[in-house]
Amino acid sequence: MTVWLLGDQLHPESHVLDGADRVLLIEATAFAERKPYHPQKLGLVFAAMRHARDALRDAGYEVDYRRAETFGDALDAHFDARPGDDLRLMRPPSHGAAERLRTLVESRGGSVAFVADDRFLCPPEAFDAWQDGEASGTPREGGEAADTFRHEAFYRWMRRREDVLMDGDDPVGGQWNYDESNRETPPADWSPPPVPRFESDDLTRETLDWVTDRFDTWGEATGFAWPVTRAAALDALDHFVEHRLPAFGPYQDAMVDGEFALAHSLLSSSLNLGLLGPGEVIDAAVDAHRRDAAPVESVEGFVRQVLGWREFMRHVYRRTMPDLVESDLLSRSRDLPPLYYDGETEMRCLDAAVGHVYDRGYAHHIERLMVLSNFASLYGADPRELNEWFHFGFVDAYHWVTTPNVLGMGTFATDAFTSKPYVSSGNYVDRMSDHCAGCAYDVDATTGADACPFNALYWDFLDDHEERLRGTGRMGLMYSHLDRKSDAELSAIRERAATVRSRARDGRL
Ligand code: FAD
Repeated sequence: MTVWLLGDQLHPESHVLDGADRVLLIEATAFAERKPYHPQKLGLVFAAMRHARDALRDAGYEVDYRRAETFGDALDAHFDARPGDDLRLMRPPSHGAAERLRTLVESRGGSVAFVADDRFLCPPEAFDAWQDGEASGTPREGGEAADTFRHEAFYRWMRRREDVLMDGDDPVGGQWNYDESNRETPPADWSPPPVPRFESDDLTRETLDWVTDRFDTWGEATGFAWPVTRAAALDALDHFVEHRLPAFGPYQDAMVDGEFALAHSLLSSSLNLGLLGPGEVIDAAVDAHRRDAAPVESVEGFVRQVLGWREFMRHVYRRTMPDLVESDLLSRSRDLPPLYYDGETEMRCLDAAVGHVYDRGYAHHIERLMVLSNFASLYGADPRELNEWFHFGFVDAYHWVTTPNVLGMGTFATDAFTSKPYVSSGNYVDRMSDHCAGCAYDVDATTGADACPFNALYWDFLDDHEERLRGTGRMGLMYSHLDRKSDAELSAIRERAATVRSRARDGRL
């Protein structure tokens, strides 16, 4: 029997390894040729796999590390060496992946046994029992019943289920959710807490050089500083808890010019590779609260992301695929503007966010949601192309997590779990960042050559999708503002929105 570890299943204490003494790791390259992945994403995955290989060998496992074009090629070699071998594998979360792997193995005369994915706390059966008991389907347009998924209810259930931040049956601090305290912007003299850098060793450098030589990539390879080992990921966790967790809560939604991380944890790449488990990350944050080293609004805010959103997205994805990936409630089909690829724009917020992705394969949540997705949504870009862009551009992107975030939260291509689109005018960026003060565009203007492009696009979006959105939960207030606009104002808005779109399309925004 051999344990087959996929490249994002690298936790050295994963239960899939229990009782095993032989491990198979396959470094396949064909997938990396399909998209212009960020070199830091490819470098991270391959370097983490190579380090895991060495660590497993040091721990006494016999490791077959196979480099091949495809999984199929590597499995040919594996079964030539070990005819009829039985493989054990953690069930991958990407849609259809387990079935594809089973076919590959069985067609080569082997067998495969899948075990539960311990990179998550909530198993599929538990989620399904809760969801199907809790929400049996709500009527939708056309009388069709479909699942709707609600994060807040799931999150509270998970708090109780995992006994996290609970005081008996009540939430610690008396509130389930400190969202209201998570919307501050730092004062001008705020110094952001330090961000750790994980210097590359020879193996990582060699891997990054190979990646940049071998593949057509998008993004900067130099400056790579992501944890590629379990030890570095644990250091990253400690560093976050000590230095940035205290400010995580208040400044969770803020953006500051020249700062890519603020107080965010930067742990998603490690969590999604399996270098860290969600349980230990949550425990570390809760422990900081117990030690009075971090306030409840920071710890709860962080726990909500890991115990709530991360787990929730995995299950919503599982339950809504394959329809999810093809859906768009708003039928948008424009190509993503070139600024997403070349970063050329005078819009300071977009310039900063695209730059962060290009430089590091990372942008924090609010840049992803309220800048990168907001602009693409309002512009009318095809959500599927945006999903692809996120997928190849981010170090933490995997189909199970990127797809529901982009198509649900980011673009309202589906309403499976959000009741309204997260769209806004320039006002939101102005409130939550210091970008607008130094921007070439005027955030207070909606029309005219200098007007912030977000503004006309926003009203035009509401106008354009009125039929679909006016009746949608919580959109009433926005439509009441739109209703107050005169015909002349609306026509100027439409004209400005058309100009913004054509300038963006031509790379002149
Ligand atoms: P923090 O802000 O410090 O949050 C802590 C942790 O909570 C994260 O590390 C992550 O594991 C988890 N988390 C928070 N929000 C989410 C969420 N919505 N879904 C899943 N996990 C969450 N996250 C990814 O891991 N991979 C992606 O490809 C991805 N794509 C996204 C695309 C869009 C359009 C949006 C709006 C969000 C996306 N997210 C994705 C979610 C979130 O933005 C990132 O997890 C987070 O920004 C990662 O940075 P961090 O580790 O510093 O997170």
